Amino acid sequence: MITIVGAGPAGSYLAYLLAKQGKEVTILEEHKTIGAPVQCTGIVTHSIENFFRLKNNVIAKRLDKVIVVSKNNRITANVDEIVMWRDKFDRYVAEMAEDEGADILLSHKFIGFDGSNAIKVKDAKNNKIKNIKTGIVVGADGPYSAVAKAAGMNSNSRHYIGMQAKVNLEMDTTAFETHFGGDFPDFFGWVVPESEGIARLGIGCFENAQGHFYKFLKSRTGKKDVICWESGLIPLYNSKKAIQKGNVYLIGDAAAQVKATTGGGIIPSLKAAQTLCGCIINNKDYNEEFRRQSGRELRLHLRIRNMLNKFSDRDYDKLLSLMSQEKVRKILKKYDRDTPIPLVTNLLIKEPRFLYFLKVLFS
Ligand SMILES: Cc1cc2nc3c(=O)[nH]c(=O)nc-3n(C[C@H](O)[C@H](O)[C@H](O)COP(=O)(O)OP(=O)(O)OC[C@H]3O[C@@H](n4cnc5c(N)ncnc54)[C@H](O)[C@@H]3O)c2cc1C
Repeated sequence: MITIVGAGPAGSYLAYLLAKQGKEVTILEEHKTIGAPVQCTGIVTHSIENFFRLKNNVIAKRLDKVIVVSKNNRITANVDEIVMWRDKFDRYVAEMAEDEGADILLSHKFIGFDGSNAIKVKDAKNNKIKNIKTGIVVGADGPYSAVAKAAGMNSNSRHYIGMQAKVNLEMDTTAFETHFGGDFPDFFGWVVPESEGIARLGIGCFENAQGHFYKFLKSRTGKKDVICWESGLIPLYNSKKAIQKGNVYLIGDAAAQVKATTGGGIIPSLKAAQTLCGCIINNKDYNEEFRRQSGRELRLHLRIRNMLNKFSDRDYDKLLSLMSQEKVRKILKKYDRDTPIPLVTNLLIKEPRFLYFLKVLFS
């Protein structure tokens, strides 16, 4: 029996894949409903449809433009992005797992191991502590992973604070915005339309999240009010982090499988689920296999993030000027951020002046 802790996208998609292979799978979810609370912007590239077709009720908006803003520059590029209702998306993937035969126990919180083949779980509905015997435990329990802590796999992880709220804002509902520069240290700010008059506005940073958030909110909307908060932690990818220890595995945010450029973790976690399913079925080393299949891409995202974090406002202005050229826009449309290696290679071929930024990348 395989026990997966956490019914987020990573846990539910893994459960779906394993159940499809005939494995006996149980998901434990600490909340009484799947998908709540929402702590995500829910924006993904169309590559998500390489994993499965999204049902219409999961999609809040399809966006075909991004507006990139630096201190003294602003460009618009064509993209193909999907904004999801994150709670509905999580329930959709969990239903896929159930349809393949996985069990889901709601209001069940993992609290620790009990020897090597059992775990302790708090059943909040019946107010009981239970022991569950299991051959394999997968921690798909997000950035605060209790499984990683209990297994001693919580090594030196760094996290951004992702401070986001829903706000009232009239904006172009076919475009999302990303904001870069000194007002967004170490990461960036975003404004993503959710429906007419409502947007998801946020920033990521290591420190003083409140200060940066309110400054951005006031400058972008002219207001100080939020409709509701949707904040959370965003792990920074760490290629040295152990993601398998014996019969304990980590996936998704628990394994820091997140693109360091954007903080996007949904698509990397679906990809990791495919890798982990293959490792469990074929008894392969997941530490090695994940690094082989996704390590290069996630390391490239990390390098680009480290490069961007050294940028001055002038560097961002210059980068946006290069990106505004038609030949560059075509590449940005063809290769999205889920295929960073061909994206960067083609950018360098078409516009060698991007090499200026590579000096910063490798310095
Ligand atoms: C503000 C913000 C905005 C973001 N925007 C985007 C975006 O636009 N696009 C994108 O791709 N990514 C985005 N992300 C990242 C994305 O949300 C995560 O990468 C993604 O949710 C990871 O999925 P997961 O299944 O690993 O973890 P989670 O979605 O965190 O799911 C973990 C599940 O485990 C459960 N759980 C936790 N502890 C226990 C326990 N002890 N016992 C039982 N259950 C437990 C939780 O209740 C939860 O259901 C954003 C993150 C933040 C904070």
